[in-house]
Amino acid sequence: MDFSRPDNARTINRLKVLSELRKGECSRAELSRRLGINKVSIGDMVQGMIEEGIVTEGMKDTSAPGRPGTLVSIYRSAGRAFAFDIRPRSVSVSVSDALGHVLRFERFPRNADARDNLIHAIAKMSAGENARIYGSAVVSTDSDIDASFFPQPVVMIPRAIAEASAEIDKDGSLDGTLFLSWSDTFDAALFRKELIHLPTIAHMKTQRDGECSCGGRGCLEVAASGRALMERTGALSVRDLVRNTGYAAALKEALRPIALALSEAVQATASDAVMITGELSQLPDSAYAHLQSLIASLLPPTRRIEVKRSLSGEKGTREGAAIAALEIFFYRTQLLRRLEAIEDSGSALWI
Ligand SMILES: [Zn+2]
Repeated sequence: MDFSRPDNARTINRLKVLSELRKGECSRAELSRRLGINKVSIGDMVQGMIEEGIVTEGMKDTSAPGRPGTLVSIYRSAGRAFAFDIRPRSVSVSVSDALGHVLRFERFPRNADARDNLIHAIAKMSAGENARIYGSAVVSTDSDIDASFFPQPVVMIPRAIAEASAEIDKDGSLDGTLFLSWSDTFDAALFRKELIHLPTIAHMKTQRDGECSCGGRGCLEVAASGRALMERTGALSVRDLVRNTGYAAALKEALRPIALALSEAVQATASDAVMITGELSQLPDSAYAHLQSLIASLLPPTRRIEVKRSLSGEKGTREGAAIAALEIFFYRTQLLRRLEAIEDSGSALWI
């Protein structure tokens, strides 16, 4: 892409305005100041976006000195993103607005009727206002999902990336955090300016025995995944494991292999903190204190790693999948970051 060409410069400026407004409403003058783009260009761009129905104008900004300008914001109902969470025993679908707020949500057991139920739910959630549909994000551990009837385009999002996206959206201070998603299976991601998927953490060796689907032995997956714990305890679902106090001892035992894997992973990735997400993240404070002390006992004395609990719990998957879909289809965050990096390098480049 050649930045001296006006249409490309407009694309990047437009994405910058959207990403700024995503943080909250803002006046044209403030946008101009924050982005270093002149007021006339900002005015033209905002006007174009208002006409397209992406941005809306609201109250007067009385916080700034001088003549008050009106505040502009993302028009929440401008578009929608669908998110599908496909688990071994259930399928869920949700639809979110342009700011990633979940508007509707339905869950079905994964049986013969699941497909019909899904098609019905998609039709119901698409009806009504003439909002644009940006696309669908699918979180699934199965590789053979028929996504042809999902609203297009469709993007597959790893579970840990979806859940971390929801947490980062709520808390801006998570840079340097390692996210471990603990549900039926394990998944992981590292947030360092952007999210990096680390699926291999599920297959770190934490014990001697136990055959894993990856062909290895003693993987974290075999030692402590929701699926492994259900087999061991006879619990009927992952939810059952968390809610029924009868499984507390089995869960406590699972914290040791998790601490082993995490203590190695935080050293390898130089992470500052750990956050547990997913259905099994909603354990009591005592479990977190135990996990924290296990990890501390495995690390050098100078290293202190805070272990945090997900704020979103099991809702995080669908919230985060919708946010990830919006970032890909609407805010185009990754494209913007790449373009800004090239712009910073200062040379005339084609990509
Ligand atoms: Zn394995």
